Amino acid sequence: MAEPKKRHSSTRSGNRRSHLAVKAQSLATCPQCKKPVLSHHVCANCGFYNGKDVLELEKKQAEKEARRKEAEKTNE
Ligand SMILES: [Zn+2]
Repeated sequence: MAEPKKRHSSTRSGNRRSHLAVKAQSLATCPQCKKPVLSHHVCANCGFYNGKDVLELEKKQAEKEARRKEAEKTNE
């Protein structure tokens, strides 16, 4: 098998690893609810993207509530 001719110095390894540090996420502010959001991502808090309610969280919550009430009725 091929072997490296010489070992790399710790300086060379350190120079290579100088670019490996994890950087802090840069966050934008949601124009709808003013919470911090990742840019170009749907807001997890209000479900808005580009001024539109794309996740329809309130509608889904209402549907879930209706289903839960229906299940309670059938159990009684
Ligand atoms: Zn939001």
